[in-house]
Amino acid sequence: MSCIFCKIVAGEIPSTLVAANDEAIAIADLQPMAPTHVLVMPRVHAANFAAYLRERPQGVSALFSLATEIGERCEAGYRFVVNTGGDGGQTVEHLHVHVLGGRAMQWPPG
Ligand code: AMP
Ligand code: ZN
Repeated sequence: MSCIFCKIVAGEIPSTLVAANDEAIAIADLQPMAPTHVLVMPRVHAANFAAYLRERPQGVSALFSLATEIGERCEAGYRFVVNTGGDGGQTVEHLHVHVLGGRAMQWPPG
């Protein structure tokens, strides 16, 4: 498996672990776009959210619980982003929820 996030989950590539539960891990993004920029990803490989929902629907609650735990640390608010596919801006094909916070977000997104 050549997936970079699977390697991070397996501990084969170093990362900064922020939090974890049985279903998912949360790591600091390598190129943060906000003071808080954490990636929450399932321990199992799923290419995107649609695949995860299809293959592991029982994991969704724990995945988003972990994302929410991170987000709630940003008292002024936060944003979840799940880029999907080429037009969605996805560059790593292992589902991950970006949790962004610590500054005011813009809308509409670029
Ligand atoms: P996306 O474009 O939504 O697929 O997001 C991929 C994210 O993964 C980007 O924000 C990258 O900065 C981040 N990223 C890529 N490689 C690593 C890594 N080894 N450790 C932490 N974050 C990474
Ligand atoms: Zn993977």
